[in-house]
Amino acid sequence: MGGTPTDLKLIDENGRRIDGRLPEEMRPLKIEAGVLKRADGSAYVEWGNNKVMAAVYGPRECHPRHLQNPERALVQCHYNMASFSVDDRKRPGPDRRSHEISKIISEALTNVVFTEYFPRTSIDVYIEVLQANAGTRCAGLTAASVALADAGVPMRDLVASCAAGKVADTVVVDLNKEEDNFGNADIPVGYVPRTGEIVLLQMDGDLSQEQFEKGLGMAVEACKKVSVLQRDALKRRYAAKADEGAEPTEIREGA
Ligand code: ADP
Repeated sequence: MGGTPTDLKLIDENGRRIDGRLPEEMRPLKIEAGVLKRADGSAYVEWGNNKVMAAVYGPRECHPRHLQNPERALVQCHYNMASFSVDDRKRPGPDRRSHEISKIISEALTNVVFTEYFPRTSIDVYIEVLQANAGTRCAGLTAASVALADAGVPMRDLVASCAAGKVADTVVVDLNKEEDNFGNADIPVGYVPRTGEIVLLQMDGDLSQEQFEKGLGMAVEACKKVSVLQRDALKRRYAAKADEGAEPTEIREGA
């Protein structure tokens, strides 16, 4: 809308970004755990102008059956962007991008879930993007980890996720839509704070090795901040459950 790459100033003379942030500054992030009654676990994330819901079902019988693994659970993520989540209506239904994102999030989560505890089962993770403004795979993975913990799925740690990238030759963290569209590179990262493992790493665009290493370091630092907010959301959830009294550990309805 109006702005073109040439007349858009992604970094101003004070080193501020288009929304006023400094390079290492993330957009505001809010996480709420346990927002859906009918899911085994759930989480809602508002991250800048992204709004993402994650729901977890399982461990439960694996369908289709030929995917069953006799030794471990299968973590199956289904990422979907609502048709009303972007400026131009998105064509509903799966596409190459949603398949890709579902796959990388499934793989990231498989690294932290104790899948060996639940042979032959499937742990289904649904990610619904209600409003998109770049960084939805990171918001989705962040929400999914909290939803898995809310479902009581045993994990080594939560995966925290945030992207870094390059705009106007400056390495920055957590790109917004304009930066994603007109910037030079985007590196989404999924990080496991307890072990220091990186379980999701993609890169699109051009970066020197030095810029890549700087961006990766900045994304990891941002992930550590995300991780604190994930834990806070779960603590609030469990404090609320305790306040509800004796019944509420089991809130499944009409299963
Ligand atoms: P991510 O959301 O993880 O950053 P992409 O880099 O593929 O993933 O997408 C960046 C942003 O582009 C999305 O967050 C969304 O705002 C927008 N976008 C993606 N796909 C579409 C689409 N089919 N129609 C309109 N906008 C889209």
